[in-house]
Amino acid sequence: MEKLKLGISSCLLGNEVRYDGGHKYDNWVAKTLGDYAEYVVLCPEHECGLSIPREAMNLKGKKDEYRMLTAKTMIDHTQKMLIWSETAIAKLKEEQLCGYILKSKSPSCGMERVKIYPLHGGAAGKTGVGIFARELLSAFPLLPIEEEGRLHDPGIRENFIERVFIMQRWHDLLSRKVTAAEIIRFHSIHKYLLMAHSPQHYREMGKLVAEVKQHAMPDFLDEYLKLLMTATARHATPSKQQNVLLHLLGYFKTDLDSFEKQELIQLIAQYKDGLIPLIVPITMINHYVRKYDKEYLATQVYLHPHPMELKLRNHV
Ligand code: SF4
Repeated sequence: MEKLKLGISSCLLGNEVRYDGGHKYDNWVAKTLGDYAEYVVLCPEHECGLSIPREAMNLKGKKDEYRMLTAKTMIDHTQKMLIWSETAIAKLKEEQLCGYILKSKSPSCGMERVKIYPLHGGAAGKTGVGIFARELLSAFPLLPIEEEGRLHDPGIRENFIERVFIMQRWHDLLSRKVTAAEIIRFHSIHKYLLMAHSPQHYREMGKLVAEVKQHAMPDFLDEYLKLLMTATARHATPSKQQNVLLHLLGYFKTDLDSFEKQELIQLIAQYKDGLIPLIVPITMINHYVRKYDKEYLATQVYLHPHPMELKLRNHV
């Protein structure tokens, strides 16, 4: 399997680039996901020209208008960071990234809820976005981007990794000459994954795909990707998952006896009620896909969205 190309805040990999000369090693990101990732490693503060160690920085100003200043000496590094960000982002656009993992709470890398201190003292509000992160989010509105802190939540982690793999398959599709047939195939193998996230977007995308030959291909691809990433940004809730699992059960109408059907229905209900993880009914369905040689289902990304070793569907 080709490795996932992911951008990452350098300190999360254990590089000693922080203001105090330390790091913020994150074991899951560095080790577990690291086995599947080729990281594009950036430390905006160091790479924009600041030393290690350096004076700590904060966002200072108002909710909608703030700058990045050193904590005590009040030196404004905002412009320096913006100039560096522009060049760094231009290079990142050539990288075909599948996602980006940012360090939370940082005035440079934090994606949300970064503290903004009033210029003349007072309590900080947690409404800021790091200066580099803000530029990154605006330059890559459809790219899966998350913070390491949020990735400790199993649901957010699962959703992020699912989307990162979707982005990898998308880049792979674009690396060949894209034909209408390839688009139809891409859409088809994502059918149940999309239904688990947003049945409404799946229907809308189906209409778009049916008219693929009536669009200029670049326009079609832009519109499809927008819908794809918007759809999958919606979390696959247990009730939407249940709906998909019951649909899949329908493929075995004539294969399973009533005991086997009841057993699978019960597993799906137990998953929906939060008693067992999603991997349990999925494993059972995958077993029946192999046993009854269901070629169409075997192509469904929903049944194999990411490596099992990441254990992303093992939580309740
Ligand atoms: S949070 Fe960002 S800027 Fe700060 S040390 Fe880590 S990579 Fe560098």
